[in-house]
Amino acid sequence: MHKRVGIYPGSFDPPTKGHIDIISRASDLFDELIVAVGVNSEKVPFLSASDRVESLRECVTHLPSVRVMPFDGLLINFARSQNCRCLVRGLRAITDFDYEFRVCLANRAMAPEIETIFLIASEEFSFLASSVVREVANLRGPYEQFVPEPVAKRIAARGNAKSPGMA
Ligand code: ADP
Repeated sequence: MHKRVGIYPGSFDPPTKGHIDIISRASDLFDELIVAVGVNSEKVPFLSASDRVESLRECVTHLPSVRVMPFDGLLINFARSQNCRCLVRGLRAITDFDYEFRVCLANRAMAPEIETIFLIASEEFSFLASSVVREVANLRGPYEQFVPEPVAKRIAARGNAKSPGMA
């Protein structure tokens, strides 16, 4: 029997508790769920690609069907290379919808055999976005509550590296 592979793609810069919630819920729906971490070499990320991939791996050790992989280039090509027929995205608010709708239809035009499914954010994380965490962390606010521990550790290390000697 063929394995049902799902892909949850994103920048995960940084991964948040909202992402982990989607990962654990989506992992129940597939034989294998690949968390695909976009590595866009043109943008300077908040957390390096390896920090994002490694912290996510540490967050999903209790979910044996989840695999975390970096990917570059067109998502549908990556999906095809992994024999994946289903993409997963999270929807927080109506403001997410317009963008997700366009990306979904563009992907479908290029790869009609690949479906996209949307999981509605859990209420407690529906306000949470990577951009919020980046902003709070850059302002030295208490970002730890928004991210899992392996991610908080890397954000803290990043802060130290950026401004040595500062409290
Ligand atoms: P992007 O690929 O747009 O950079 P992100 O890395 O920010 O995406 O997020 C990946 C996916 O997770 C997106 O579908 C996004 O809507 C979803 N997502 C982000 N934060 C949350 C959250 N708090 N709850 C549910 N889904 C979320």
